[in-house]
Amino acid sequence: MATIYNFSAGPAILPAPVLERAREELRGWRSTGVSVMEMSHRSEDFIGISEKAEADLRALLGVPADYKVLFLAGGASAQFAAAPLNLWRGKTQVSYVSTGYWSEKAIAEARLYGQVQVAASGKDSKFTTIPPRASWNVDRDAAYLHYTANETIGGVEFQDAPEADGLPLVADMSSNILSRPVDVRRFGLIYASAQKNLGLAGLAVVIVREDLLGKALPGTPSIFDYKRQADNGSMVNTPPTYAWYVAGLVLDWLGEQGGIKAIEARNIRKAAKLYAAIDAAPFYSNPVDPAVRSRMNVPFHLADAKLEALFLAEAKEAGLVYLEGHRSVGGLRASIYNAMPEEGVEALISFMHEFERRRG
Ligand code: PMP
Repeated sequence: MATIYNFSAGPAILPAPVLERAREELRGWRSTGVSVMEMSHRSEDFIGISEKAEADLRALLGVPADYKVLFLAGGASAQFAAAPLNLWRGKTQVSYVSTGYWSEKAIAEARLYGQVQVAASGKDSKFTTIPPRASWNVDRDAAYLHYTANETIGGVEFQDAPEADGLPLVADMSSNILSRPVDVRRFGLIYASAQKNLGLAGLAVVIVREDLLGKALPGTPSIFDYKRQADNGSMVNTPPTYAWYVAGLVLDWLGEQGGIKAIEARNIRKAAKLYAAIDAAPFYSNPVDPAVRSRMNVPFHLADAKLEALFLAEAKEAGLVYLEGHRSVGGLRASIYNAMPEEGVEALISFMHEFERRRG
């Protein structure tokens, strides 16, 4: 089979060695003769798998000992609800920064539980930039400050964690977790769905500072209660065991790549090459402020939008798949997560040059 490069925004490309190992272990994990899919989550074997995944995540990201790491069902969307439920703590409001589609989703969900102050919004720029930190109006008595570290659809990424004015900082890192170093100490809560840089859909990883736990709003569902989940090893319910196992395989692979610094260096090179190709000619364009362009999701347009369907069809023929933009915005988008090899980005760039030569 010809090489296929998968540019899907999520569920997304997995490292080839991860798929290989999952295949090797599919029918029987190690000497057990039992698939991970068939194991009790309480078995010694699965506890071993789950604890190793947590330890590896802690080591790779540098998670301090006074933070809990949870592996929960429901993806990041469940955390849009769980964050306010757990962290509101009797305050009058919560503060959110809006940088696009996913921030707006998080804000809408938080509004189910009370008053949300929007400290800053990129809406006036059509979400092509992030308002400068100095212009934000953060309520210093809010329960927390929430932002979306990387907007998967708009392709806007924070290059650093923002200053939180002493509030617990909450980040949705669904589409850029493990792609660059983060100083976990600066956060009260980090959450991320797994289907971009950590494996399979349906799972979310939650990293939360211990002192914020145990204050959930009355009526918080038990499976959303971080304290209960932390006290029960993320097993208040039966967790998404297979997704947890695959996350462990992805973390092993990441370690083999040299860890986050090494993967970041590769991500910087991949993104720089792709943006350079887009910027080189007016045939292609990306609307995002270069200072906040995402290293993970690269939306782009053709000057002649009528050619986009043809671009997608011919790219697919060439083995470059899932390059369509999100249904809400159209256009094209290349997601180049950790698992996308540099050759995949180079293949896309060659195709773009060739397409322009033929159709430009
Ligand atoms: N936040 C961001 C930044 C996302 O990209 C996504 C999914 N694409 C979500 C939240 C929602 O994740 P899920 O569908 O797994 O709940």
